[in-house]
Amino acid sequence: MLKPLCVVLPLLLSSQTLAKSSDYLGFDYPNKAKNAVSISFDDARHSQVDTGLALLNKYQVKATFYVSPFNVKERVEKWQMAVKTGHEIANHTASHLCTGNFEWLRELGVSLEQFTLKEMEQDILKGQDYIKATLNVTPTAFAYPCGNTFVGRGANTKSYVPLIAKHFKTGRTWLDETANNPNFTDFSQLTSLPIDGLTFEEIKKTIEQHRTNNSWIILAGHDIGKRDQYTTGSDVLEQLIVYLQDPKNGFWLDTVSNVADYVEANRKAFD
Ligand SMILES: [Zn+2]
Repeated sequence: MLKPLCVVLPLLLSSQTLAKSSDYLGFDYPNKAKNAVSISFDDARHSQVDTGLALLNKYQVKATFYVSPFNVKERVEKWQMAVKTGHEIANHTASHLCTGNFEWLRELGVSLEQFTLKEMEQDILKGQDYIKATLNVTPTAFAYPCGNTFVGRGANTKSYVPLIAKHFKTGRTWLDETANNPNFTDFSQLTSLPIDGLTFEEIKKTIEQHRTNNSWIILAGHDIGKRDQYTTGSDVLEQLIVYLQDPKNGFWLDTVSNVADYVEANRKAFD
C-alpha cells in the first residue's frame, strides 16, 4: 500500500544524503533476538480483561494497555489485577479525543478539530490522574486515539506531539506502514501495525515483511475474542504468542516501555 512514493523519494535525494541516512548501524537485542515485538491494546475494552488477561498470563506475556478511564471504571478490580500481573498501563487521553469525523465526538463537542493544545493537555493529564488514583501507576507511554496527532484545522492546525514528548517517554500512532528502526525512530511517534480481524498467517506475514534492520514491531489491537473488524481473535493471539516466544524465531517480546528503555540505552545515533 502506498509504496511507490516511499520507494521513489529516496532516489531523488543526493548521494551524500542517501549514504548517511541509509547506513545500517546494526542493533543487538537481549538473548540474540533479531527483533523486538510489543503487543498493545487500546481503549481498555472489557474483553481485554474479561478474556485476554487470562490468555496473556497463561504464557506470561506482558502487554501494554492504552486505557480509557470510562472503560476502566466498569472493571476496576480486573484492571488492578492486570497491574498486579505485570502488564503496562498507559494513557490514551481521558475522553478518547480524535477527529470529529466520528459523529459521537462531534456531538459531544470534543473533536480534535475543535480543541486547543491547552484543552488537549488538560484531557491527557485528567487521564493520567485517573490512572494514578485508580491503579496506582504513573503511565510513561501514550497512544494517540485514532492515530491523530493534531488539534485545530487548516492553517490553524497544531501538532500535539510536543505535548506527548513533554509528559511521556513514548507516544504510539496507529495504522502505520513501517516498523520502528531502533537507531532512528522517534519515541514520541512510535509506529504500530494492526492485528484486529487478521488470521495468524496474515499477522505472521506482516511481521516477516517488517523484520529488516532489527526493527521493533509494535502490534496494536482493540477487543479480544471472536475475530472481527476491531477484535483480535483469541485463538489468533494464542498462536501469535507461541510463535513469538519460540526462541528459534528470534523475537524479544516485552512491553513498549521496557523495549523503549532498552532501545534508548543501546541505540547508535545517526550523525
Ligand atoms: Zn482508541
